[in-house]
Amino acid sequence: VRVHPIASTVSDNFFYLVTDGDDALLVDPIDPEAAVRAISSAGAARVRILTTHGHPDHVGGNAEVVSQLGCEVIASRHARTFPVEADTFVGDGDVVQLGASSLTVRHAPGHTDGHIVLHDADHLISGDVFFVAGAGNCRFGGDPRELFATFYKRLADLPAHMTFYPGHDYAVKNLEFIQSVEPSRPPPPARVATAHERSRADGPVLTTLGEERMYNPFHRAYDAQLQRVLEDGYVDAMDTSIADPAERTFCALRALRDRF
Ligand SMILES: [Zn+2]
Repeated sequence: VRVHPIASTVSDNFFYLVTDGDDALLVDPIDPEAAVRAISSAGAARVRILTTHGHPDHVGGNAEVVSQLGCEVIASRHARTFPVEADTFVGDGDVVQLGASSLTVRHAPGHTDGHIVLHDADHLISGDVFFVAGAGNCRFGGDPRELFATFYKRLADLPAHMTFYPGHDYAVKNLEFIQSVEPSRPPPPARVATAHERSRADGPVLTTLGEERMYNPFHRAYDAQLQRVLEDGYVDAMDTSIADPAERTFCALRALRDRF
């Protein structure tokens, strides 16, 4: 598949046109004008919408795109809060056929209870689950313990070489957070430089899951040194009712990032 990032002009989102030949999928097309323009320049013969989750900044463009293009909407069947109006409901392991490609749906709750992500062998459309240098927040119907399970159980098998395409680019702020929470282990300078150099027109900063697992604290919850930094320096953020030190560390990071 080919994945084209599109910068929304009505919000700080990035959304995606995923194509295989003349078959196209619009993922979270929040900016209908930009979405319709992208479809016509791609010359797509068939268009569908896939919604990662029901937050207004992801689903809010659907009605207008449907009225202009008459396309089908695909969404999670697991969403209890933030349900999405859709024609086809999918769940974990379901396959969306796009041209000659098969894209796999994965249930990835935590940011919301019904969040789904989509991948082939090389590309992951990660919505608001994985961000460069960060993780999705859990403030609007989310649950950090579910997000922890998504990171370390549900999506742990995704390979290191896989590039992910996030719903937002908070790289600059996320990198500042990393620097502040664990100053003894600053993020890679090249990553910081890239984050500062790019403009929205360039699309989001793109990295692989393997790169994130090296330096992003949300992917390093099992790192004993990081756990110690939090146990020693951020006692107030640690929820002692969570028995697993890695899960406790992850949830503390999420709480600290909310306040940052
Ligand atoms: Zn969201």
